[in-house]
Amino acid sequence: MQWFGKGSNNVEDGRGGGGKIALGGGLGIIIVIIGLFMGKDLTGLVGQLPLTSEQTNVKKGSFPEDDPQKKFVSGVLESTEQVWEQQFNELGLQYEQPTLRLFEYQVQSACGNASSAIGPFYCPGDHKVYIDLSFYDELKNRFGAAGDFAQAYVIAHEVGHHVQNLLGTSEKMERARRTMSKVAYNRLSVMLELQADFYAGLWAHHAQNLKDFRLDAGDLEEALTAANAIGDDRLQKQATGEVVPDSFTHGTSAQRVFWFKKGFETGDIKQGDTFNSASL
Ligand SMILES: [Zn+2]
Repeated sequence: MQWFGKGSNNVEDGRGGGGKIALGGGLGIIIVIIGLFMGKDLTGLVGQLPLTSEQTNVKKGSFPEDDPQKKFVSGVLESTEQVWEQQFNELGLQYEQPTLRLFEYQVQSACGNASSAIGPFYCPGDHKVYIDLSFYDELKNRFGAAGDFAQAYVIAHEVGHHVQNLLGTSEKMERARRTMSKVAYNRLSVMLELQADFYAGLWAHHAQNLKDFRLDAGDLEEALTAANAIGDDRLQKQATGEVVPDSFTHGTSAQRVFWFKKGFETGDIKQGDTFNSASL
């Protein structure tokens, strides 16, 4: 893909801080991180304290030409801003832009401290997408999903969780989590994840109409390869040699591909009700 825009102003660069974590005050509500990209074990979280203080070395809104990766993510983010602003307008709602925070090794969020091991995630508590760019190497080398559009899909998926947060879907989930069995909640979690994949597809559909956006040949395949590579069934099989559907939190490879494609083909937000779909 190509992006000719100036880049989003909502990228925070928290890299190069040496992974220093400062513990903050006790205000705020503990919100479990639900916006993971993959169904990884949450033992990567090093704490669940509600933290309020910020690292001091965060740089915001600077996009040096010599940092192509940063330029890339800020371009993708800007394209999601434009697509979702338009979508929210059509719904008669106001879109609130999320922040994308780059980090290395570990980071503190309103959802607790997290290490890179859990992969990219979205924290509903501070409206931020968190990504350690080394994940892109993992995506390519471990999961065989290379290409810029596979990388863009990761961001679009996380922004999809932000959309769910704005539309109240995440809050409903969080309430349900307290009353449901683990198996029932996992099933709900799969639907939330698949909807984020649908929103990523919907972004790709509408991004094509933006004046600064170009889709290259093979881009769609890159995203589909990524969606296929990170289905829970495949990840579990790789990790343990067996597949346990009750423990799925993100959906199978086939489901992830199905919903991304559905978003891409229809571009219609009303088609994204993964919660009441016969296809699950
Ligand atoms: Zn997710």
